[in-house]
Amino acid sequence: MSKLRSFFKRHVLLVGLAAVVVPLLSIIGLQYWSLRKLEKTSIVAGTVGMKNYLGGVSSEVKMFYKSNAEQALAVPAYSVEGDNLCDLKDHFPVCKVEGAKLVFLAGFDEQGEAQTLFFNPQDLSAHASEVPPAEVRAVQFATAPLRMARKENVAMPQPMVWMEDHDPDNFVLIKAVTDDQKVVGATGMILDPAYFREVVLPTKIKESLAKYFPDGTDENVIVTAYDEQDNPILSSQSAKGQHDEIKTSLPYFYNYKVGIRSRHMTPEQWAHWNFNYSLSLSLLMTAVLIGGIVLALRTASREMRLSQMKADFVSNVSHELRTPLASIRVFGEFMKLGRVGDRAKIREYGEHIETESRRLTQLINNILDFSKIESGRKTYEFERVRLEDVVAETLKTCEVRLKQSGFSIVFQSPTRPLPAAVVDREAVAQALLNLLDNAVKYSERAEKKEVLVRVGERDGCLQISVTDHGVGIAPAEQKKIFEKFYRVSTGLVHDVKGSGLGLSLVKHIVEAHRGSVTVESAPGHGSTFTISLPAADGVADRAETQKPLLGGDASDLAFKH
Ligand code: ADP
Repeated sequence: MSKLRSFFKRHVLLVGLAAVVVPLLSIIGLQYWSLRKLEKTSIVAGTVGMKNYLGGVSSEVKMFYKSNAEQALAVPAYSVEGDNLCDLKDHFPVCKVEGAKLVFLAGFDEQGEAQTLFFNPQDLSAHASEVPPAEVRAVQFATAPLRMARKENVAMPQPMVWMEDHDPDNFVLIKAVTDDQKVVGATGMILDPAYFREVVLPTKIKESLAKYFPDGTDENVIVTAYDEQDNPILSSQSAKGQHDEIKTSLPYFYNYKVGIRSRHMTPEQWAHWNFNYSLSLSLLMTAVLIGGIVLALRTASREMRLSQMKADFVSNVSHELRTPLASIRVFGEFMKLGRVGDRAKIREYGEHIETESRRLTQLINNILDFSKIESGRKTYEFERVRLEDVVAETLKTCEVRLKQSGFSIVFQSPTRPLPAAVVDREAVAQALLNLLDNAVKYSERAEKKEVLVRVGERDGCLQISVTDHGVGIAPAEQKKIFEKFYRVSTGLVHDVKGSGLGLSLVKHIVEAHRGSVTVESAPGHGSTFTISLPAADGVADRAETQKPLLGGDASDLAFKH
């Protein structure tokens, strides 16, 4: 159980991410599946929508002629019997028939002979003046079956309107006139193709568009009507549109056709586009969501690590403070009690006290500087200096401590004079002290207790490097050690005490000088920390640095103890 808990703690980012990513990917998978389904359905729905429209136009046309015929041709039997046929009054229940070029009324005798009268559809009380032979023939053809029925005395329970299409220029809508279920005559109308083409077709196309594609969606389709020769005679829009057109023939005028096609995309293209768009949108949103969550989790895990490091810091610092204080107190008490008579011993104790106080001062300086950096109050006083001098002076201040620790420092000064640098003398000294302190701390058990300090110039930068032969640092840790509070807690160093502030201070100081700090190290083979600082420009600076180092003797200065 505790193993599981510690696994979760260590891999909080991974666990948190998995907790979000797995359900998200499942949702995406489900969405992909439903979008694929929707894509197929949309193709069908798009096509069905267009087919419905065509069906709508057809039934509107049919309704128009059928209801006109039903109304106009409801003629009573007495209208065609005996002398009544010639009486023009009250034959038709309406006075005007739309869409017809002629209306007729025929009365049959028992031999099936017909007496036919033609009427003007604009005014059904008036006879048509001259009826062309083609129309007369068309009516004769149309009434022939009814005449036969009259002759044969066939019963016709419910007279209906139907269409006779012997002559494509004269379609006839005809209805039987019956008396006691016996056919006594016929009435009908010859359809007007011009009226169909110019009035009925455009009106029904327009009305159906508004009905089947409401709220301006009719903009997305193009409807075209074609005549008997398949030539387009009218179109709902002048736009070009896609080529996949669905066509249908119309009722009565079956040689005419109406076609519909998408203006922008075919239903297939639209469904594909919609699929790709929705899926990309979902993927994008998921990516953004995962990105946000990763960021939040990273911040959370960093905060957790930082708060853990802060807690460690407090315990480390109290230990760091206590050790030198205890030494100072012990040596002070020895001297106070006067137990040490030997002058050399007194001197040695004094040196111990001085070293420990310096160590305390450095620790307190680090903490104070760190707090200044954190609150943005840290300031630097830049001055033109010779870096070799600053390094040599700093090394002198640690002389005693190094001697006590059994370490020797080899200072390798530059072979030729270096350009001057503009730095904060104290800050650079503090950075170097921290590197030296670490070099000693992490080489306690090393066989070669030697720290090499070099000052030189490389690629126009002034460099100070500190090399030790201590425990070294694993590659994975090398970036992290410059973070505040970070301490390597594994391997050989876990028992060495420290605050975790030293290298973060070094980094800050160096970066404030527009320089950089790097480390080269391998576990068990020591480390080299290198501070690079920009040189001050100009020849004059170089001339100024021609003075000898530390009183002008050797180019290799060694403090060996
Ligand atoms: P600390 O007070 O722990 O020394 P630093 O910030 O100075 O804090 O160093 C951070 C970590 O880097 C140390 O805990 C140590 O593990 C590693 N480190 C620093 N300098 C050296 C070195 N010279 N040799 C080996 N490890 C080092």
